Amino acid sequence: MPIIETKNLTYTYGEGTPFRKTAVDDANVSIEQGEFIGVIGHTGSGKSTFIQQLNGLLRPTSGTVLLNGKDIWAEPKKIRSVRFQVGMVFQYPEHQLFEETVLKDISFGPGNMGLDKDEILKRARWAADFVGLSDELLEKSPFELSGGEKRRAAIAGVIAMDPEVLILDEPTAGLDPRGRDVLLSQIVSYHEVRHNTILLVSHSMEDIARTADRVLVMNSGKVAMFDKTEKVFARDAELETMGLRVPQITKIMAVLKAKGYPVTTVLTIEQALR
Ligand code: ADP
Repeated sequence: MPIIETKNLTYTYGEGTPFRKTAVDDANVSIEQGEFIGVIGHTGSGKSTFIQQLNGLLRPTSGTVLLNGKDIWAEPKKIRSVRFQVGMVFQYPEHQLFEETVLKDISFGPGNMGLDKDEILKRARWAADFVGLSDELLEKSPFELSGGEKRRAAIAGVIAMDPEVLILDEPTAGLDPRGRDVLLSQIVSYHEVRHNTILLVSHSMEDIARTADRVLVMNSGKVAMFDKTEKVFARDAELETMGLRVPQITKIMAVLKAKGYPVTTVLTIEQALR
């Protein structure tokens, strides 16, 4: 059984107004447990609207989202629990840090799940360790951290909830190349350790080529392609018509990864060519 499935998923903004806009149009997608899915598409193609329906932040205009075979809106009162199962890291998540200390911030999510104190702390420390935040940083105010550290603290706050599905919307936006590499490697090792399902939305074809098993391409609200990463990137002429340019190196990286070269090797090759 797929972990996430969408059936005829459609979302229209401003229904009944002159500004009516169908942002997601009849999307039928099936994702298996443990897959690493890349989501790409031109700005305005419907990526954010699509992912926000997967954890119940937006309720579909029509169609359904099934999580482990169950319609997430079957019992609207229980939609909150879906948000723990499907964790979402928004763009620039560091803007949502607000607690006195980094540790308290990372503990906030698991603190809302009805867990006991020891478990909350255990999860928060595990998540912090995962994203490479040292113990001494945990007692600092989030505002004392560097940009990259803040980003990692915010991501730790979501992975501390141990979601079955983790959705990351442009997690590397605004980071320098080094910060980007570090963060991507951490996301990949998190996936390797937890074997959970990841959806990564990115403008960066390289980020997707390095990480994703399959790529979902959105175009004008439709699912235009959904296939193995190297197969999608091989269709570069079609992608270009959707406003997506695929550099040659990205295609090579996707093929290398499909042949089983580890991400670190692919990274080294890419850096050598930069
Ligand atoms: P992407 O994440 O790919 O940039 P979005 O899902 O944000 O795409 O947007 C898809 C379409 O829906 C765009 O045409 C956008 O202008 C429109 N849209 C997004 N959010 C809203 C909103 N709150 N109200 C009206 N239209 C919106």
